[in-house]
Amino acid sequence: MAIISINPATGETLLTVDPLTTEQTIAAIDRADGAYRDWKMTSLDGRKSFLLKFAQRLRSRSEELAHLITREMGKRISESRYEIEYCAKISEFYANGAQKFLADEPVPVDDADAFIQYAPLGVIMGVMPWNFPFYQVVRFATPNIMAGNTVLVKHASNVPQCARMIESLFHECDLPDGVYANLFIPSELVEVAVSDPRVQGVSLTGSERAGASVAAMAGQNLKRSVLELGGNDPFIVLDDVDVDEIADLAIKGRIVNAGQSCVASKRFIVVKAVAQQFIDAFKKRMSQLTLGDPTDEATTLGPLSTEAAAVNLLEQVQSSIDAGATIVLGGDRPDRKGAYFNPTILTGVTPDMPTFDQELFGPVATVYVVDNEAEAIELANHSTYGLGGSVFCKDIDRARRAARQIESGMVFINQPTRSQAELPFGGVKKSGYGRELSRLGILEFVNKKLIHHR
Ligand code: NAP
Repeated sequence: MAIISINPATGETLLTVDPLTTEQTIAAIDRADGAYRDWKMTSLDGRKSFLLKFAQRLRSRSEELAHLITREMGKRISESRYEIEYCAKISEFYANGAQKFLADEPVPVDDADAFIQYAPLGVIMGVMPWNFPFYQVVRFATPNIMAGNTVLVKHASNVPQCARMIESLFHECDLPDGVYANLFIPSELVEVAVSDPRVQGVSLTGSERAGASVAAMAGQNLKRSVLELGGNDPFIVLDDVDVDEIADLAIKGRIVNAGQSCVASKRFIVVKAVAQQFIDAFKKRMSQLTLGDPTDEATTLGPLSTEAAAVNLLEQVQSSIDAGATIVLGGDRPDRKGAYFNPTILTGVTPDMPTFDQELFGPVATVYVVDNEAEAIELANHSTYGLGGSVFCKDIDRARRAARQIESGMVFINQPTRSQAELPFGGVKKSGYGRELSRLGILEFVNKKLIHHR
């Protein structure tokens, strides 16, 4: 795949980049490995000062960076600003928290002194997606940099400007050469890095297909891996809710990033007692979305990231319709230039339809009507994915009981699933394994080394 930046709102080509050769990739690994020798000896305070500077830099250039994101992948400008501020917060979270997260941990034993040292591992490879082009990279890179690892990042081929900018921001903060490096490589060259003996692990955020491929490379080379993959998150509405309030949250959960979030609410599972009321309220709000230029503050639904993404989504929706699903709203693309997709609601999607267990990455919601709570939970778990999910119910004890039964890595009560620096993020089943963010995120690529003495 060519490394090429195209504005999805206009179709304009912004930049084309020549990928690195195998030799250049190996040279980058050499530099990252060389840098690791010094970086692992740098004090936590030393590492912290770079990340605090990085956070400062993100904030001071926020407007420019937000416009870069919006131009390159179509996110609405207010969401791009939010992404940059969130990246600054994640950097500060790890800069300020690493001392505590990585402190030696005593292991109580009767006959000796023993403790766990959280030691760095070496060079870690990151393979990242385009949908949150700064956040995904920062969430991977900052805990590893604080842990004393050095990182190589292969970013998605449609966001080379963001990829280049993140690297240059680290350089502006005087982070030593080789601690963070962007690799402009096609996915075929990821194996060169993963199989290199100096690379100690790989973290991939992306599709199931890419995850399976990179996990196989990691397994073949006996390397540790973290996989943050797709989701088909349930949004369960029980019978005691205020439907108007829930419909507002449903829009928030489904339309974030034009629907292109792994933890966007995708399957709206509603008990019969409030189902029609919910569908009406949700449809009203979906149809009021203002589709348009993502740099315009008045726009509430921007384009998808690429024309190919919009074409693919249309095929998925059409295949559901062909198989008997009902269109409540939309189901097509607007007659305008750019990778746009109309807000869509489908009902009547059944397990025998191909899209039932597929992630719909865009402003397309499927609504399922169930008889009761038990059926809602059963349907929520009827998925090969298990990333996030949410339960809406005024009775918190009941909501917690339901949440405990959902097979996913995260469940939020009375709010859509979201990401926050302090909270562990990750999934089960085909949504991947391992956790990012929180203390768990910084412990993924460290040597949990036992030191024991009498
Ligand atoms: P993707 O096609 O899997 O791409 C993700 C990254 O993997 C890109 O850098 C891509 O490079 C690379 N890649 C693709 N195939 C590869 C292979 N065979 N070997 C090595 N690298 C490979 O995913 P996407 O379409 O960009 O992103 C959307 C997916 O990511 C959705 O499923 C979404 O749910 C998931 N996601 C998950 C999380 C999470 O935290 N769980 C967060 C965000 C997104 P190229 O661009 O060069 O192909």
